[in-house]
Amino acid sequence: MAKKNTKTQPAARQILDMNAFDAETSASTSSPLLQRRIANVGASAVLFYREPLEMVSASGSWMTAADGKRYLDFYNNVPSVGHTHPRVVAAVTDQISKLNINSRYLSSVVDLYLDALKATFPASLSNVVLSCSGSEANDLALRIAAATSRGTGIIVSENAYHGNTSIISDISPSALKRRKLPDHVVTVPAPSHAGQSGSIENAFAADMTRAIAELERRGHKFSAFICDSIFSSDGVYADPPGFLRKAVEIVHKAGGLYIADEVQPGFARTGEAFWGFARHGVVPDVVTMGKPMGNGFPMAGLTTRPDLLARFCEDTGYFSTFGANPVAAAAGMAVLNVIHDEQLQDNALRQGKHITARLLDLAAKDDRIAEIRGAGLFLGIELCRPGQKEQPDAELASSVINGLKDRGVLIGAAGRFGNTLKVRPPLSLTEQEADIFVDRLEEALSAIAAT
Ligand code: PMP
Repeated sequence: MAKKNTKTQPAARQILDMNAFDAETSASTSSPLLQRRIANVGASAVLFYREPLEMVSASGSWMTAADGKRYLDFYNNVPSVGHTHPRVVAAVTDQISKLNINSRYLSSVVDLYLDALKATFPASLSNVVLSCSGSEANDLALRIAAATSRGTGIIVSENAYHGNTSIISDISPSALKRRKLPDHVVTVPAPSHAGQSGSIENAFAADMTRAIAELERRGHKFSAFICDSIFSSDGVYADPPGFLRKAVEIVHKAGGLYIADEVQPGFARTGEAFWGFARHGVVPDVVTMGKPMGNGFPMAGLTTRPDLLARFCEDTGYFSTFGANPVAAAAGMAVLNVIHDEQLQDNALRQGKHITARLLDLAAKDDRIAEIRGAGLFLGIELCRPGQKEQPDAELASSVINGLKDRGVLIGAAGRFGNTLKVRPPLSLTEQEADIFVDRLEEALSAIAAT
């Protein structure tokens, strides 16, 4: 393919704006349901796609739209063991028809679940707090860090997204529009080869040292480093395993906590480990989790060391009405059982390798694919101008996403410029479904090249 000699710096994009419906440019605002949605939720509408989809049902890796068209779900990061998994549905249905109460009563199903969940973590992380959203879990994690360090300085990756509460929006560069990051928040680039020589581990450690010094210079006592263990909104950075180790040592030496945000990579998605941080051989002080935890039943939480939680609880009373309810526990337990019984971690590893091998073949033929990154069923496909790896092409990513949708595959974008396709199918993906994705991707790329 011919090289275009264009060198314009693309605009940075927010994570929620990627592949988002835009009422001003869309042709489909005439749809009555779309009009109702916009009338109901106003400026907070966050619909996907130039022409939003109305979904009516889903099963396994597939979703069915109102017009009967079926879509292969490669966007998936919640119904991770498969849409409407019968064992999760049965567990929730059974529990809600028996008992649903708050955590101020004892209920054995909750402790059965907490024991099973804890068995997936290093032994030091022996206290769990359940909540209803990943944002709420991260909010509590930051408050635990503040109570421990008596500081407020936070380090995040450049395009991090950690949620929607007030203090968490402040540490989510990828969510801020006109507002700037507050003074007590300093960023580090995602661990990648970009712009540096030498090992990723050493470069990331040096960035951490600089960020801690910058907080000190600004007069903010260092409290915590929080990162998504696969740097999803930064564009998916997984390799080499272990690259977090030195940075985490530096964080600890400086008196800060390391918070692993596992909302995206957790629950076996990376194939190589049940938790993303485990691939890096580090033990966090706090781990937060959410999305796939209940396969769609809204639940989230954190795990930490008892001493850290006790320090926070001395300062502040903490209770969540819906956190740790027995129905959530039943959903969570069913998810853990399905991952185990259906060997979904192994499947994530196997299918991830299969997709990666096929994508590398595709990249060898198509010079608009700059890089394939990731682990297990969490991959990033970075798209660039033809033959110009350093020139991200967000327009191409957007066209591919919409081209895939037309061909019955749903997928999202990530990265600073929105030029990385996020490959994130259910962990129950079959090889045949994996092949459908790569075939459709090749078709979509060819169709765009031909126009
Ligand atoms: N952390 C990460 C890494 C996330 O991707 C998200 C959600 N996209 C959150 C936290 C917040 O989770 P929730 O939307 O459940 O509040």
